[in-house]
Amino acid sequence: MEMAYTVTVFLFGLVLGSFFNVVGLRVPLKESIVSPPSHCTNCKRQLTALDLVPVLSYVCLGGKCRSCGQKISWIYPLMELITALLFAFAYWRLGFSVEFVVAMLLISLLVILVVSDLAYMLIPDKVLIFFLPLLLVGRVMSPLTPWWDSLVGAVVGFGILYLIAVLSRGGMGGGDIKLFFLLGLVLGTLNTLLTLFVAASIGMIVGIVVLRLRQQGRKTPIPFGPSIALAAILVYFFGDAMIDWYVGLW
Ligand SMILES: [Zn+2]
Repeated sequence: MEMAYTVTVFLFGLVLGSFFNVVGLRVPLKESIVSPPSHCTNCKRQLTALDLVPVLSYVCLGGKCRSCGQKISWIYPLMELITALLFAFAYWRLGFSVEFVVAMLLISLLVILVVSDLAYMLIPDKVLIFFLPLLLVGRVMSPLTPWWDSLVGAVVGFGILYLIAVLSRGGMGGGDIKLFFLLGLVLGTLNTLLTLFVAASIGMIVGIVVLRLRQQGRKTPIPFGPSIALAAILVYFFGDAMIDWYVGLW
């Protein structure tokens, strides 16, 4: 039975992940997320049910549009798969609980932001504003201990990122700053600081790898959102273990 639930949660994640791609791509352009129906960006052909099966359609079509052969980015099936795997993992860790809902909200928020950030180098306010009250209610119903750690975390997360933005004169986007308010709410103070540290570390490694791979050419900025998202997920699930390990070293 447990297996059946996990599979159901996984499939739910696939479908939602597919929707998150649409949201992440359309909201920054101020387009409606329901109309027009999904279409090929190149030949404008409206996608049918056959094109819209998460992951499978992409694999079966060889990553190309069925009519014009335009390549479809592998980012989209990847985000679907990541959403599904994270949902399943969250269920496995938390069972059906309020905290499981909080986890799904956090995963959903981050997946949408990564899609937007990769596509446009932008973390859309609208998405943050949509998730803020939901996460707030989630943290009221499934509080951290002590409960006010959420509030301190939100203020500290926002404050530190704001300070970095001021000191680096715009090296940090406004979206990143507001995102850390939400992360602070979900993660609490210590884990928010840990997220910042892990995100900076991941960002640095990504930066070095990208610089190596790229022939010396234009310095296009690398979006920081995906590093923050990965760090926040790691810390959400393993932050306490990471801190325990670190404290144990001393
Ligand atoms: Zn096409």
